[in-house]
Amino acid sequence: MTAQLCKRCSAAEAVFVSRKEPFCRPCFVRYIRGKERKQMAPYKVTYPPRSSSPTPPVRLLLALSLGASSVALLEMLVEHLRDQIETHRGATGFAVTAVHVDCSSVSAYSRSPAAAIDELRDKFGDICTFDIIPLDDFLLNSSDELGVFSHGPDLESYSFTSPAAADDTEALPHTVKSDILDKVRDRTSKRDLLSTIIKTLVVCAAVKHDSPTLLFGDTMSRLAERVLSLTAKGRGASIPASISDNYSISESVVQLFPMREIMRAEAGEYAAMQGFAEYIIKPAVTPAAVLRMMTIDDLLVNYFREIEAGFPSIVSTVVRTADKLKDTTAEMDMACAICGVKCASEPEKWLQNITVNTSAVENPQEPSDSDTLTKDKDILCYGCLVATKSASFTWPCPPRSTKEEIISQYEL
Ligand SMILES: [Zn+2]
Ligand SMILES: [Zn+2]
Repeated sequence: MTAQLCKRCSAAEAVFVSRKEPFCRPCFVRYIRGKERKQMAPYKVTYPPRSSSPTPPVRLLLALSLGASSVALLEMLVEHLRDQIETHRGATGFAVTAVHVDCSSVSAYSRSPAAAIDELRDKFGDICTFDIIPLDDFLLNSSDELGVFSHGPDLESYSFTSPAAADDTEALPHTVKSDILDKVRDRTSKRDLLSTIIKTLVVCAAVKHDSPTLLFGDTMSRLAERVLSLTAKGRGASIPASISDNYSISESVVQLFPMREIMRAEAGEYAAMQGFAEYIIKPAVTPAAVLRMMTIDDLLVNYFREIEAGFPSIVSTVVRTADKLKDTTAEMDMACAICGVKCASEPEKWLQNITVNTSAVENPQEPSDSDTLTKDKDILCYGCLVATKSASFTWPCPPRSTKEEIISQYEL
């Protein structure tokens, strides 16, 4: 059997087949980087009119989960910056700060994320900067640092302590503090709330680092999963807010998905080819063995893993179609207290009219004086309402702090 030749250069032996096309290593690397550079085109080195000194670089914040895609994106950004430095005599169009939210209190990494970040800092500290945020910052109610996040009852008695928290077990916390995610019974809701917490932390980090753009390593496969998952979770209205480039996710920060044209398998292969596999240490989400126990996200990961190999166009169709959806929430004046998505009116009222369920956002400690409740109650979107409905206490809501408020927390 003769070795298959790379279809691009017709010279080297193919080492990887993607979208049914055989690639040699250099051609594959160029192909994948080309997709990233297309998305990052606005961040080239520019010169003001009649000036020979370039415009100062824009600081971009990379949400580095240490999964294959964000690690691949980090490598591409580093190479992109190196090319700019070489071509423009040291000047760059952007600067990168990579931020990792340390989730080791809720899920087991394959090795210490702090050690991995230290190694990355040693290796690329001259090109970009790194920051690590403990997940518990979300709960540090009265701390001087990121304490602007949460308000709610007795937050000091909660923590992210149970390794099983993001999993399906009914494991009870053994520590004095009880695990906040254990208060939510449903697996899908748990996962949903955890991702909202992580996103809140990285958005806050972007504000803190004065970065107007937050980069996410989500691949086309991940974006497609998110479209279907949001739909299934009753969060369809927030699809544009969750997958669109340049969408404002806070007063001063927009999001960008430079990997939106790249499949998950391609990102994994790329990271491995470039020798970055050792930094892919994100806790592998082990889907429940029993179908009944799977979260919506587990089911969709499995679904897209199968179709992205054989029918890649289906994946891109899901994302492109969803990207055309009109954002009907942009004009709305109320925002969900938990995830920050805009909502039209109180979905809870509408829900109460059709069901007899009460939500968990009312403080059980407080007398049910309806005046206090309506005055102080936070508005939740339908998705967060469903996610916290199984919580047995008031879920903490991150107040949407202004940029000034967040920065003032950091002043010495
Ligand atoms: Zn080739
Ligand atoms: Zn919400």
